[in-house]
Amino acid sequence: MIIVMKSRATEKQIENVIAWIESVGYKAHPSSGVERTIIGAVGDQRDKAALKYAENLPGVEKTMPILKPYKLASREFHEEDSVVRVGAAEIGGPEFVVMAGPCAIESEEQLLESAYVVKKGGGQILRGGAFKPRTSPYSFQGMEEEGLKVLESVSGKTGLPTVTEVVNPADVDLVESYADMLQIGARNVQNFALLKKVGHARKPVLLKRGMMTTIEELLMSAEYILSSGNPNVVLCERGIRTFETATRNTLDISAVPVLKNLTHLPVVIDPSHAAGNWKYVIPLSRAALAVGADGIIVEVHPEPEKAVSDGAQSLKPEKFYQLMDDVRALAKAMRG
Ligand code: PEP
Ligand code: MN
Repeated sequence: MIIVMKSRATEKQIENVIAWIESVGYKAHPSSGVERTIIGAVGDQRDKAALKYAENLPGVEKTMPILKPYKLASREFHEEDSVVRVGAAEIGGPEFVVMAGPCAIESEEQLLESAYVVKKGGGQILRGGAFKPRTSPYSFQGMEEEGLKVLESVSGKTGLPTVTEVVNPADVDLVESYADMLQIGARNVQNFALLKKVGHARKPVLLKRGMMTTIEELLMSAEYILSSGNPNVVLCERGIRTFETATRNTLDISAVPVLKNLTHLPVVIDPSHAAGNWKYVIPLSRAALAVGADGIIVEVHPEPEKAVSDGAQSLKPEKFYQLMDDVRALAKAMRG
């Protein structure tokens, strides 16, 4: 339920409504707009009719049900686009944000070299995995905390904010102490314990769609994070499983306008994991910008042929520079 306050409602009246919502067993999520404050009352839906009583409280204009099952993620709750800040980058704002870097952190030298490429090309956020969710238990699993230390050090040397994956609820505090944004990978999109844990983190979250998750399921996963108290969630379409085998996954480009219609959260595309082949990364990045995504996350490696993970889909530095030139030209044409 949304409780819409009158435009002249006082702070005290808003506080009273919040206290009342909590006294009847719901969680209050206030959101102040330019005109007025609205308060989302979310919780168990069984006796939501009781919330209608809020219309009798001083300062309340009206109550409105939120029809979607994802309440805080829905456009009904929050009409304007949300902007998520990661260092100096603003995802969901006027600028198309490029996050780039290697799939896995392999050494300080490798990450630093990648970061210089990202920075030189004009990328705003450095990616790099320290905990890798690998299909095979025999594949490289990541440098773990050593990798996080490398990530922090490279961020300090280049000034780039960072995004890195966390796969275990027990590691959220650790990862949060080193990185600027927490990635939830495709395989963990419905790991509810992990979603709740990052929902309590203070860092923003990059939530990737699973290879078998519907758009509604993705939004319900975002709802776990939002309802746990973390409002800074960015959604990422990274390809889904279909019958097609020519690409690693099938990039669901329609997910972008569909999500933009349903939610206020920023939406980015990962063309690298969608395609599985560096050759398709530049055209898919152009498609991401053209379809209205807020940014991309791409894999870049100084020597993809030597990469310990996802080399086939990683761009060489010169290809990354070409991608950035294309992005700038297209952004200028489309966004002014
Ligand atoms: C990654 O970003 O390297 C990764 C493992 O991505 P995904 O979870 O989308 O497969
Ligand atoms: Mn990867």
